[in-house]
Amino acid sequence: MELLKDKILEQGRIIGNDILKVDSFLNHQLDIYILNEIGKEFKKRFRGYKIDKIITAEVSGIAIAAIAAQYFNVPVVFARKSQSKNLDMETYEGEVFSYTKDKLYKIRISKRYLNSGENVLIIDDFLANGQAILGLKQIVDQAKANLVGVGIVIEKGFQEGGKILREAGINIESLVIVDSMSKGQIIFR
Ligand code: 5GP
Repeated sequence: MELLKDKILEQGRIIGNDILKVDSFLNHQLDIYILNEIGKEFKKRFRGYKIDKIITAEVSGIAIAAIAAQYFNVPVVFARKSQSKNLDMETYEGEVFSYTKDKLYKIRISKRYLNSGENVLIIDDFLANGQAILGLKQIVDQAKANLVGVGIVIEKGFQEGGKILREAGINIESLVIVDSMSKGQIIFR
């Protein structure tokens, strides 16, 4: 997706060796024009699939999934990262190990909002080591729903997630794949 590549080259910042900060349009300030284009592109990539629901994880996935959902005309459910009084007690749970935070945490979706047999599309901002997506997949599997595919805005192709998920037979569509970020230069696949 050329528009997204241009935006990353223009505004992305490389932190350390492997973190790409895109706070100016995707992770903090939100550029609604680009989010709409991302939504349309996901709809195009998953054309022909029956999708009943989009799921994502809080926080960064929510805006992307919500705008994309307008093109699919389906509800969005976001997995919560903390147990709270607002969340039903009956939940499906996935475990996610975060390399960036170096900790294991749980994500949860209420059993009310994910049903057996539903066709689910997972959407997320980044794919790095694949842990977030595997945690969401655990939830989909527990609910006995069908994982139709995974839509990723930015895949970091130099990390293992894409390989692990594709080898597990998951249908992944990444709008851009970054192959390297060494010496301050972003190279796309
Ligand atoms: P994974 O579970 O695939 O290792 O990491 C995916 C999650 O970590 C994403 O949902 C995203 O929130 C965060 N993440 C991983 N790498 C990056 C990165 O380079 N930049 C940003 N902004 N977030 C990242």
